[in-house]
Amino acid sequence: MDEQNAVCATAYHEAGHAVAAIELGFQFDHVTIIPDETENSLGHILYAHYTMFLNIGHRQFTRDLRDYLIANRAGPIAAERYTGQWNEVGAVSDDANFWRTLWQMYGERGDRHARDLTRQARKLVRLQWPAIKRVAQGLLRERTLSYTDAKKMFDG
Ligand SMILES: [Zn+2]
Repeated sequence: MDEQNAVCATAYHEAGHAVAAIELGFQFDHVTIIPDETENSLGHILYAHYTMFLNIGHRQFTRDLRDYLIANRAGPIAAERYTGQWNEVGAVSDDANFWRTLWQMYGERGDRHARDLTRQARKLVRLQWPAIKRVAQGLLRERTLSYTDAKKMFDG
C-alpha cells in the first residue's frame, strides 16, 4: 500500500469508529488521522470517557460494553471494506482492547460473543457506508473532526 492509500485506509478506519459511536450513542471528543508516535498509532478516536459508562453496576452496563465493542470492530471492518483486505497491523490495538474486554465480560464464552458482535459491526458498517464515506472524506480534508463536525457529516 502506498502512503496515500494508507492515509485513506486510516481515514476509513477512524470514520468507521466515529460513525458507529454516533449511531450507538457514544460521545467523543475528537477523531483524527494525525499519527501519534508515542502511541504508535496512525489515527485515533478519543471517547468522552466520563460519559461513556454511566451505567456501571446496572444491566445497561453490559449493553454499553457490547455497543463499545461493536464500535471497536467497526474501525477495522470499515478499512477492510475500503481496501478489500483486513489490515492486521492497523487493527492490533483495537484487537487487544476487543479481546481483553470480551475476556473480562465472558471468559471462555468470549468467542461466541466475538462472532455475534463482529456480525453486528459488519451490518452497521454496511448500512452506514454512505455516512462512513462522508466522515472519511471529512477526515482527509480536515485531519481532525470534533464530535459536532462528525455528527453533521453523519447527518449528511
Ligand atoms: Zn481503531
